[in-house]
Amino acid sequence: MSESTIRPFFWRATRLFGEKTVVSRTTDGEHRYSYESFGHRVQKLAGALSALGISDGDRVGTFGWNHHRHFEAYYGIPLMGAQIHTINVQLSDDRVAHIVEDASDDLLLVDPGEPLATIERLWEDLDSPDQVVVMAEEVPETELPAVGYETLVAEAEPVSEWPELNEDQPAGMCYTSGTTGLPKGVEYTHRMVYDHSMMVTTPAALGIDESDVVLSVVPMFHVNSWEFPYAATMAGARQVHPGASPSAAELVDLIGSEGVTLTAGVPTVWIDVLDELDEHGGDLSSLERIVVGGSAAPEEVTRRYKDEYDVTVEHAWGMTETMSIGAVSRPKASMAAASREERLAKRAKQGLLSPGLEMKVVDEDGDPLPWDGESAGELLVRGPTVIEEYHNRPEANETDFESAADGGWLHTGDIANIDDDGYIEIVDRVKDVIKSGGEWISSIELENQLMAHQDVTEAAVVAAPHERWGERPLGFVVPQAGADPDATRLRESLVGTVPKWWLPDEIRISETIPKTATGKFDKQSIRERLDQPDLPHAPGRQRWPIISRTLQWPMRTWSPGRSGRISMGK
Ligand code: AMP
Repeated sequence: MSESTIRPFFWRATRLFGEKTVVSRTTDGEHRYSYESFGHRVQKLAGALSALGISDGDRVGTFGWNHHRHFEAYYGIPLMGAQIHTINVQLSDDRVAHIVEDASDDLLLVDPGEPLATIERLWEDLDSPDQVVVMAEEVPETELPAVGYETLVAEAEPVSEWPELNEDQPAGMCYTSGTTGLPKGVEYTHRMVYDHSMMVTTPAALGIDESDVVLSVVPMFHVNSWEFPYAATMAGARQVHPGASPSAAELVDLIGSEGVTLTAGVPTVWIDVLDELDEHGGDLSSLERIVVGGSAAPEEVTRRYKDEYDVTVEHAWGMTETMSIGAVSRPKASMAAASREERLAKRAKQGLLSPGLEMKVVDEDGDPLPWDGESAGELLVRGPTVIEEYHNRPEANETDFESAADGGWLHTGDIANIDDDGYIEIVDRVKDVIKSGGEWISSIELENQLMAHQDVTEAAVVAAPHERWGERPLGFVVPQAGADPDATRLRESLVGTVPKWWLPDEIRISETIPKTATGKFDKQSIRERLDQPDLPHAPGRQRWPIISRTLQWPMRTWSPGRSGRISMGK
């Protein structure tokens, strides 16, 4: 029996839909070719990688945006038996260094511009790899041992026969920052990519078809761009890759000019696109569906796309650990007669689990909670597209995964209820992290930086709900005895130590910070009281008055969408 690998995906697109086009926006301009030409270049890329010494079982890192060269790497690397490891170009230098070191990448494929500059800064401190390939027409001036992608591909001998692959061998890798501490490596086998692509393609999830024209705005460095490069290829759909940091105006242009029917990305992207349409108009007549996930899709966004553009927002939930999409929210057929408001309310939930998965919500003792739409507990999921362990992280494996004997469940870290129709609704998070515009911010790292300040004795950072970004960091600081820190200066002291978009929107100086019985910051209590700066003593909790100044930063201090750079979560 043949193995479940990505090889038949490649075969199907290149042999049955060879004439279909793949369009890319690149730093060298627009690029357009057919699946047939894509296939030839993938064979040449694999030949080139072999010539560079890459072989079965090796790991090749990629550090770039969505374009045809990266798309070719999605196939060339795993088809030759190696593993593609996609690295987030938006992370801070120390995180990128940690990820490249932890994965021991044997080679890096890097975009020109800022990604290449990042690797240049880190190069001296990296043990591996010893060469980079620049994914551009020509190699810009660099001191790195770099070779150009186009030169490599032009000179390579194409691979004519793919090697026999085992379905359990690793095909991909991606790091998650969605939990406390350093990013953790998540590996996907061929079998998992196969299964997840099948799941995504079924109408019960996204229903991708060869008649679709697909534009995934989800970066290729985020959980396989929610599987679109595999699922859409397998389906034989036309594809559009939007390149580095597309602006909302560029996305609207691409949708109109390429006749895009299906697109995907985090809520901020689609809020920016609505703003762009409000200001300058645009043609969305071809567009049928937008998959919105990574953070909760605001109901207003879903409503506006339907009312004003006749576009359906498919609200999706998922994690790096579930290979992205794990649930999609649309009303069941039995709701056909339900009111518009009831149907919209269902779409606002995180949805129905995708085929192939199972779930439960449990209380603190691990006991299952009823599906009553109210009882909230941690969401646990399992299935063939859910990872069973992290790379190199035995301590996290202990806490995040149940053993096979205990059911093999993944602890998602999401607090959810399930209603009697089976729809998941995420209401909170156990994980001590903040998700802003689809990207993670570590509250603990911000707290450590604040507590390193000489005037600060304690600092807690929590996620404050935000209309546009989903969440933004809000800091609480207890001054050292006798000190009188200024909130503006404290905030400024973080500049340079964390990425600019991590800076808390507001820092409040406080007398104390509430703690749990075990002495940890009681973040849940803080979050519950964000709007009530001077609360009476809560039973069982410490008094926590906000004393003097609060610093309210304009919410658009840092606006990636406006500056042309869109933050595109997974
Ligand atoms: P990541 O591993 O970075 O993809 O992040 C996964 C996490 O993002 C989930 O565990 C949730 O906390 C959050 N998330 C993803 N999709 C949604 C959604 N539709 N609504 C609310 N939170 C979401």
